[in-house]
Amino acid sequence: MDRRLFLLGLATAPLCAHAQPKGARTMKDIDAMQKNWKTYLAAGAPAVSPDEPLKLADAEWRKRLPGESYSVLRKEGTERAGTSPLNGEKRPGVFVCAGCGLPLFTSEMKYESGTGWPSFFTTIPGVFEQKKDFYLIYPRSEYHCKRCGGHQGHVFDDGPPPTNQRWCNNGVALKFLPKGA
Ligand SMILES: [Zn+2]
Repeated sequence: MDRRLFLLGLATAPLCAHAQPKGARTMKDIDAMQKNWKTYLAAGAPAVSPDEPLKLADAEWRKRLPGESYSVLRKEGTERAGTSPLNGEKRPGVFVCAGCGLPLFTSEMKYESGTGWPSFFTTIPGVFEQKKDFYLIYPRSEYHCKRCGGHQGHVFDDGPPPTNQRWCNNGVALKFLPKGA
């Protein structure tokens, strides 16, 4: 479903306050996270926009990226579950694309999914493009960085409410920039 239509639909639906356990996130909270993501950037962090594409020849990517980042970002590989140090990353900050530095998620959007991959229930708006892949016979929603085209992961619909999204991301495709750095 088109994400904007989905969000618009939710915005116009009446909110049923008692249906949510106390302290649970609402779509209003998600909206605020998406609007205020820049508050998680470190002071003086470079401004990187999805609208300035970074296109490099394959050989150039191979030179710039460490082996595993290259095979995930440029060849749609998947890192082994439980191997990323970013699984345990809990400091405030921003997760950027390891290929081009585009901010993709804030620490506020991360949750522990128990899968062994860094997982997020929403994203910074307008930073991903998606396609279906059939590598595992059944279709999965692949997503990649809008700026450099680097493969990041797959999105599933079994995440926590209210988005029910699980953005399952390869840690080697990300870099974490702590806000305090
Ligand atoms: Zn990128």
